[in-house]
Amino acid sequence: MKILLLGSGGREHAMAWKMAQSSKLEKLYIAPGNGGTGDVAENVQLNINDFNEVGSFCLDKAIDMVVVGPEDPLVNGIKDHFKTTAELKNIMVIGPDAHAAQLEGSKEFCKKFMQKYNVPTAAYQGFSISELEAANEFLGTLEPPYVLKADGLAAGKGVLIIDNLAEAQEELKNMLEGKFGEASKRVVIEEFLDGIEFSVFALTDGKDYVILPEAKDYKRIGEGDKGLNTGGMGAVSPVPFADKALMQKVEEKIVKPTIAGLESEKMDYTGFVFFGLIKVGDEPMVIEYNVRMGDPETEVVMPRIKSDLVEVFEKAATGKLGEVTLETEDRSACTVMVVSEGYPEAYAKGKSISGLQNVEDTIVFHAGTKLVNGDLQTNGGRVMAFTSYGANKKEALQKSYASINKVCYDGIVYRKDIGFDL
Ligand code: ATP
Repeated sequence: MKILLLGSGGREHAMAWKMAQSSKLEKLYIAPGNGGTGDVAENVQLNINDFNEVGSFCLDKAIDMVVVGPEDPLVNGIKDHFKTTAELKNIMVIGPDAHAAQLEGSKEFCKKFMQKYNVPTAAYQGFSISELEAANEFLGTLEPPYVLKADGLAAGKGVLIIDNLAEAQEELKNMLEGKFGEASKRVVIEEFLDGIEFSVFALTDGKDYVILPEAKDYKRIGEGDKGLNTGGMGAVSPVPFADKALMQKVEEKIVKPTIAGLESEKMDYTGFVFFGLIKVGDEPMVIEYNVRMGDPETEVVMPRIKSDLVEVFEKAATGKLGEVTLETEDRSACTVMVVSEGYPEAYAKGKSISGLQNVEDTIVFHAGTKLVNGDLQTNGGRVMAFTSYGANKKEALQKSYASINKVCYDGIVYRKDIGFDL
């Protein structure tokens, strides 16, 4: 099979690494890829949000399947484009259509869906500027802290959690007046949930599903979960507190009703469902859905899948996922992300990376890297994810940290406490 994978992060490198192990794979392209993906796929320079460009490439190279890494092309309707273009409609696309992608693209759409299908989540209401008075009233009925969410995509910055009511009311007004542009023209106000977060992933064909290994990621830049939010500084899988009893609840109370909801809404959903969960007491609740895999969670989830991923994708795309039993790895997989000094604020790019040839026993998934005349350089905030296996998370993390010590670039920063709280 000839496959085109869209994206350029550690998530896509990990997916490409896994797909490259498949006996069913004839050729793998990745657009645009990064400084590391060339080892397992052929990097191609395409604008992944220009669907005519992507479509032409697919026809030119006789691509059988497109796997979509990030959410933008999905929310922008890549699946719809392929479905409705005569020459492209037989190409399999792993990812939902634009309507279903609203589960990630609109927080209000997502909350309404969860409410309709009885998926446990925080109580909420959605408002626009003409409803400011009612919105303030609703805020006043909640206990602090107050959770305000821009309805649309805001690059992970559209959620504010505020302790003080007057400040929350002020921010609410700012948001509705366009603090996050179009994304915050509507705002979801929701009840604060107190608990520990983790992530569960499913692959679905819209009626059947397989659950992938769960993971926990670390979002803050600083140790002890302090400082600014990032795209993710590390992840562990399995998650020690996600025991059999909790995972059974996740499947029965969250995964099953969600997939049943997709089916009853007749959503065109072939792809990943990312359940952003929080354990409140002994009960799992949903904070958000994403319609793609997480990053850096993918960098620990892919290494824990033993089954042939291309074969599983093919089953999903042909509506035969019910035939699949996913085989998973018993060992732990943990990843530590190395970033550029200054990230998630301003940082420099173009720093030479050395020492990777000395790394053993760790898989290095590249994110913000590029090759410049054979010299590997930093090219983003999150630079590389160091993933290792271990009999337990401690062993896996020790290997990742030992490997990081062998690598050097100017301004290397990483958290030294990934997984230590579990
Ligand atoms: P991301 O881009 O990180 O996926 P997002 O912008 O899509 O985030 P959410 O995932 O809905 O937004 O919220 C971001 C974070 O805010 C969550 O990971 C969680 O830590 C916190 N959060 C969101 N909703 C709640 C809630 N109801 N109670 C407590 N914390 C919450």
